[in-house]
Amino acid sequence: MSDIPHQNLAIIGHVDHGKSTLVGRLLFETGSVPEHVIEQYREEAEEKGKGGFEFAYVMDNLAEERERGVTIDIAHQEFDTDKYNFTIVDCPGHRDFVKNMITGASQADNAVLVVAADDGVAPQTREHVFLARTLGIGELIIGVNKMDIVDYSEDKYNGVKEEVNKLLKQVQFRSDDATYIPISAFEGDNIAERSDNTDWYDGEILLEALNSLPEPEPPTDAPLRLPIQDVYTISGIGTVPVGRIETGTMNMGDMVSFQPSDVGGEVKTIEMHHEEVPKAEPGDNVGFNVRGIGKDDIRRGDVCGPADDPPTVAETFKAQIVVMQHPSVITAGYTPVFHAHTAQVACTIESLDAKIDPASGEIAEENPDFIQSGDAAKVTVRPQKPLSIEPAGEISELGSFAVRDMGQTIAAGQVLSVNEK
Ligand code: GDP
Repeated sequence: MSDIPHQNLAIIGHVDHGKSTLVGRLLFETGSVPEHVIEQYREEAEEKGKGGFEFAYVMDNLAEERERGVTIDIAHQEFDTDKYNFTIVDCPGHRDFVKNMITGASQADNAVLVVAADDGVAPQTREHVFLARTLGIGELIIGVNKMDIVDYSEDKYNGVKEEVNKLLKQVQFRSDDATYIPISAFEGDNIAERSDNTDWYDGEILLEALNSLPEPEPPTDAPLRLPIQDVYTISGIGTVPVGRIETGTMNMGDMVSFQPSDVGGEVKTIEMHHEEVPKAEPGDNVGFNVRGIGKDDIRRGDVCGPADDPPTVAETFKAQIVVMQHPSVITAGYTPVFHAHTAQVACTIESLDAKIDPASGEIAEENPDFIQSGDAAKVTVRPQKPLSIEPAGEISELGSFAVRDMGQTIAAGQVLSVNEK
């Protein structure tokens, strides 16, 4: 669509601190709400005798649609600044943010942390910052929001700033890189225009800060990794696995391998948006057909890669995990379900190798007896069924996972090394 560089942006923060409102504001200020929608709001507003402030109607409408359950999902909304084309990736509280963030379905480059000036650091502020740090979010812009509620008080702003800064230090976020901005998502202060209400502030406003984000790293030269979402049988073509290319490229004629199913063949056709294409790249959702592969040979959770550099299958792997919420304690032998890319496999935490001090990143305790909510640890994991997974240091897209149990995400982690099958 646009030629400007792309960024995936996460909007994180505690519930009710103003994430959706901020997204609405950004869409509105950058002219990304479709004209006909604005027009419709304008008409409705005038009918109700409240003409003039379309933003309120954008937001009202978001709220109303949310109540009706037909959310204009704020995730996957796009807006352009002068410098970047941004896609908002899943926002916390919307669907399964934590899981999506971890499993790479919504890998964000950078994030805006929304903290309400009247509430400060709250439980989910901590959780999301913790996750952002674990999952390698690059830079954080901290919007100290709802400044209108605290009368644009510089003292309040500085108080929240200090609190957040302490949190960033605790989890070892490079806090020098963080940008703090006093904003009101609702009133529009310091979003697209410098506000007269905060004359004590002379730093960047939000759109400037977004433009100042570093360009995301170009796609790696990692080999093809395409986690399989589904496998279809289509008459006239045959077996068609579908999925999203995470890294590398797929060309017609390539020899590929599916792991852990351990079958392979030559790519006959690649289809994208119902059209045949000769080649597909990272981010492309494709269906393809491989000579000699039947529907029962492969399954969801397999990863497709080059035959001469096939996806890694783990006998065991070492990982660093962060426990987010667990009602009791985790000990060696615990076997929850690991969600990595499209795979879901029960895995046993075979040993707790070290507890990490989140403040310093140093080992706090070797071979702890247990770990609990809030702890970070190095562990050894044994999948109970074959699982294809990669060290995050080599292919980050295939190197993180969520740990789920009892219907909740209880931990998140990244693969440090893989002991291959
Ligand atoms: P989310 O849960 O983080 O997405 O929060 P919402 O965007 O839904 O906002 C929660 C509530 O705070 C809503 O009633 C918003 O209207 C209100 N709100 C959000 N931003 C501001 C702001 O800058 N100023 C004021 N006064 N209210 C705000």
